[in-house]
Amino acid sequence: MTRNPHAGTPFTDSDAEIAAALEDVSVPALLLSCVHMAGPELLDGPLATLRPAGLFLNEVQGYMSEEDKAAARALALDVIRDYRDRGCPEPAPVDAAQLKRMMDWLVCEDVPGEYVPMLLEEMELTGRDERGTEFTSAAADRAKFPVVVIGCGMSGLLAAIRLQQAGIPFTVIEKNAGVGGTWWENTYPGARVDVGNHFYCYSFEPTDHWTEFFARQPELQGYFQGVLDKYGIGEHVRFGTRVTAATWNDDDATWSVAVESADGITDTLTARAVIAAVGQLNAPYIPEFAGAQSFSGPAFHSARWDHDVQLTGKDVAMIGAGASGFQIAPAIAEDVKSLTVFQRTAQWMFPNPNYHEAVGPGVRWALRHLPFYARWYRFLLFWPGCDKGLAAAIVDPEWPDQQTAVSEANDLARMMFTQWITSQVGDDADLQAKVIPDYPATGKRTLQDNGSWLQTLTRDNVDLVRTPIDHIEPDAVVTADGVRHHADVLVYATGFRVNDMVSSLKVFGRNGIELHDQWGDRPAAYLGITVPNFPNFFMLYGPGTNLASGGSLIFHSECEVRYIMGCLDLLIAADKAGMEPRQDRYDDWYRRCQAELSTTVWAHPSVKHSFYKNADGVVHSLSPWRLVDFWTWTRTPDPDDFIFS
Ligand code: NAP
Repeated sequence: MTRNPHAGTPFTDSDAEIAAALEDVSVPALLLSCVHMAGPELLDGPLATLRPAGLFLNEVQGYMSEEDKAAARALALDVIRDYRDRGCPEPAPVDAAQLKRMMDWLVCEDVPGEYVPMLLEEMELTGRDERGTEFTSAAADRAKFPVVVIGCGMSGLLAAIRLQQAGIPFTVIEKNAGVGGTWWENTYPGARVDVGNHFYCYSFEPTDHWTEFFARQPELQGYFQGVLDKYGIGEHVRFGTRVTAATWNDDDATWSVAVESADGITDTLTARAVIAAVGQLNAPYIPEFAGAQSFSGPAFHSARWDHDVQLTGKDVAMIGAGASGFQIAPAIAEDVKSLTVFQRTAQWMFPNPNYHEAVGPGVRWALRHLPFYARWYRFLLFWPGCDKGLAAAIVDPEWPDQQTAVSEANDLARMMFTQWITSQVGDDADLQAKVIPDYPATGKRTLQDNGSWLQTLTRDNVDLVRTPIDHIEPDAVVTADGVRHHADVLVYATGFRVNDMVSSLKVFGRNGIELHDQWGDRPAAYLGITVPNFPNFFMLYGPGTNLASGGSLIFHSECEVRYIMGCLDLLIAADKAGMEPRQDRYDDWYRRCQAELSTTVWAHPSVKHSFYKNADGVVHSLSPWRLVDFWTWTRTPDPDDFIFS
């Protein structure tokens, strides 16, 4: 029998080497690994008293006193030594009741029953890929059902893997020259993920090789390249090719997908279904500033970073400081002569000491060798962002002074975040006024911070300007107060046209109706995936699926892809031509999403500028739902939600 891959690779390290490794690791995850090695009796023994006192976001070490941690490491060393001396046998499976106890112990609370199956699936303690689809259709029929996937970023690659496993022929069309989507395009200095990497990777493709807890862009792109290679997806991808239009043909129930390569050669592919995995954050948005065209130096968007431009010794102006600008400024400030940051709205941020930290050798040793350590560590990263943030985002209509907070929980978040900011800027009242946001916490995307942003702002060569921009001149950005800010280079860290969903192509559905014409200013999809009049057209990371309060887009995409594979199975098994959601289900979904979103801080009028909102202040991109609900709803498609043709 093959060994459960999560049981860890057997080892022969010395006691001293093991003890040294344990200094680095997450102590709570370590103790649960010990339960696998020594047996569940440990829970009633030493772990009954030796337990975390609380859980903080991305807290690797766990919140335990130093004394308890030392006792835990000593206990673990005994358990690991014994396990090593027994030859590192694969631990016996732990039963469901004990696993639930382990979860509760780890997160210091009773994990509600409805979450347990989702968490167990996410952890894959069985060693099996738990999100694969069990098909009812015949393999021979699936082999006659070609699918085109648009985009080879994180979600398109995932769809490709699942299609390949299903034996469904597929072609992926990718406009870029390589895999990774956002992680291919965003090469700006300082680009890194802000979801812990040991969770931000496919559930079925975890890895112990991350060099940092929040990896930088090259490592992330390398991860997706590695997965593409491992599954042999590359030969199915047409890189450097963009889809210009997709057209449904009712006569033969096919999609004609028009593509154009970088050298202008056009082609048309025929498919039975299309999966649009085009992302939400890749059409750069550059505001129109008077005189912008007259700027004589290099000017580029953060997602189109021009690496030929040397910044050393230059006066650099950066317009916009959201998630991208927040990472760029600390990365370039040391090199440039001066950096002027034009920020319209201050950002909320919360402390994360691991944000720029390397993964030490001890953690890597534990991830590789200790049974299920990596899986419990994944759980540890998942749980704090698993629906708790949503509660702090819900508006309490009774809460007074809605300009600064929308509920008690939200006010608490505001106080914690404010404390973190003021602890860094001290008594500098001018800087405080500039950097403490004047809208409720979590109203916009909240940023991870290790202090590098505010340290950067206090440098002598860095200036944070909150005065609005009036116009741009050939060598300067001029603010409304008439001040000229000299600039040799202009960086637009101004975000993306998020509300122009699927903007890179035209999609013609039944009777020639175009998707964007049908949407008007209400882009939506049933469960974020399907749209009436567009048979066999599925979206990943579609309208209403972005996450503002936790989770990870990889988790969401895995839910969506499983649902789509279920839909394809239904279609093929029933030998139907097409499926599209019922209009009433779609309308009801849209109404419920909007009703729910309107109760959140993301739609609140106190948040004036936010890419979550469209020009009318309406939110279409975000999911207002708990992860556990989305997971439940997308496990299996309900045939009753669809019209089959
Ligand atoms: P963003 O958050 O939309 O920030 C855009 C910045 O440009 C904001 O400071 C915005 O000001 C400013 N801006 C926009 N229009 C302006 C105007 N007309 N005048 C003056 N300023 C203007 O974009 P982003 O920083 O590229 O991030 C977008 C999303 O990408 C993030 O929320 C996140 O989902 C993702 N991202 C993730 C990471 C990561 O760490 N993994 C890194 C980068 C990006 P206002 O705030 O006033 O609108």
